[in-house]
Amino acid sequence: MSTDLSRAQQAPARPSGALPALGDTSELSASAERRIGDRIASSIYRDPDYLDDPVLGDYLQGIWQPLMTAARARGELGPELETRFAWDVMQIRDRSVNAFALPGGYLGVHMGLIAAVSTRDELASVLAHELTHVTQRHISRLMSKQKEQMPWLVAAMILGALAASKNPELANAAITGGQAAAVQNQLNFSRDMEREADRVGFGVMSDAGFDQLGFAGMFDKLQQASRLNDNGSFPYLRSHPLTTERIAEVKGRLQLDGNTPPSRATAEAGTARTVHAMMAARARVLGGPGVDGLRPLVIEAQALPQPAVATAPLTARDAGILYGGALAASRLRDHALARSLAGRLKAATAPTRALAEPAECLALELELAAGGTTALPRLANTSSRAALLLQSRADLAMGRGLQDVSGALQNWVSNHPRDAVAWQLLATAYGQQGQTLRAIRADAESRVAQLDYGAARDRFRAAQDVIRSGRDGGAGANSYIEASIIDTRAREIDQLLREQALEEKLNR
Ligand SMILES: [Zn+2]
Repeated sequence: MSTDLSRAQQAPARPSGALPALGDTSELSASAERRIGDRIASSIYRDPDYLDDPVLGDYLQGIWQPLMTAARARGELGPELETRFAWDVMQIRDRSVNAFALPGGYLGVHMGLIAAVSTRDELASVLAHELTHVTQRHISRLMSKQKEQMPWLVAAMILGALAASKNPELANAAITGGQAAAVQNQLNFSRDMEREADRVGFGVMSDAGFDQLGFAGMFDKLQQASRLNDNGSFPYLRSHPLTTERIAEVKGRLQLDGNTPPSRATAEAGTARTVHAMMAARARVLGGPGVDGLRPLVIEAQALPQPAVATAPLTARDAGILYGGALAASRLRDHALARSLAGRLKAATAPTRALAEPAECLALELELAAGGTTALPRLANTSSRAALLLQSRADLAMGRGLQDVSGALQNWVSNHPRDAVAWQLLATAYGQQGQTLRAIRADAESRVAQLDYGAARDRFRAAQDVIRSGRDGGAGANSYIEASIIDTRAREIDQLLREQALEEKLNR
């Protein structure tokens, strides 16, 4: 393909820390692109439609990490991009089918996409495609093409376009004339870029061990939607028009690749399908379908015939129906029904560990939602993030083993300092133990994790006020150490805020 953008054509990245050089046709440096991405991400983190569901987060990471590994092994992902970029797959509470890549290694996945795909391989094909837009520096090339535009303005336009994808009517009113065209230019990758994302993404997902048919399956879904002219619920189709050449290329790739494995029919594949059905059902409920959308899920689950034996294996479809029905019933505050549906799911999935874990987590989550504070069950395994956070919430609700909870969470955040949810739970855990300073500091760190430095500075100042007033409850002999950590962090955040203000001035 002579029109493909080869990586050899890319200009070398500028030294890190350099501000984006405008009027330069080469791509933005990785760190400049990251800073623009951070600006966009900090707005998304504050958007009520942003969500960090630990269960779906683990599911997405289980697909994302193998893709990253494969991209690294293929040489698509170099060490510089890997360390400079955020690599954050953000979840968006939106029922439409969409995924997008943003500057700096931020990606977004709508709940509607997870709910719509039939297999994790289909989801992997979309993520591999978006990952490729990032690793091939398509975004930085689009941004640096806009010579007269300041990168921050570009960031603002992308945010506007994101809002547009969520609410077309509102955004059309807000964005008019030349700006709307500019947004289109910003977000529309060229046809060559799309084909490159398909081609490289296909290789990445295959190398990562996903079923190549996932790519074709996703294309079939998009094709069906485009025939139905279903653009409203398929924004992905607007940003990724299905040209006949894209379709032909994917089909050709499947036929040409001698290694194409037959669609797997192993037990492992069956388990993966069942897990996916449960996760898709979860995404459907978390997408916020409203009462009218939740009720049919409950009715469908209630209509499932009771098996003769409780532990009889479920089809993937039935597992999804029970999972979605239980969660929907809980959202509708029918806690007894939720418990009974989750109980059926738990009994049927017990023999297979990969299925039992999500069912067990669901059962505990539903007990918590029902307001349970006594005798909440303990999860058998808390090695996953979802299980650790859920178990911590349950223990906090019961006031059980608080020291162990804060110890486990402290350990987690020291390895995952950008985990805002874990920092929040840690703040609660310290608060319940009367350790005021540590609680405020953990709260501050959760704001830092979401790039809200202003709010973080307010928290650190509050902590300094507590120290000055001598009300440093709980810190005891450690109060001196705690106070010095807080002072250091407060200074670091002040510095970040100063840099941010300076950058904005320079780019205005
Ligand atoms: Zn694309």
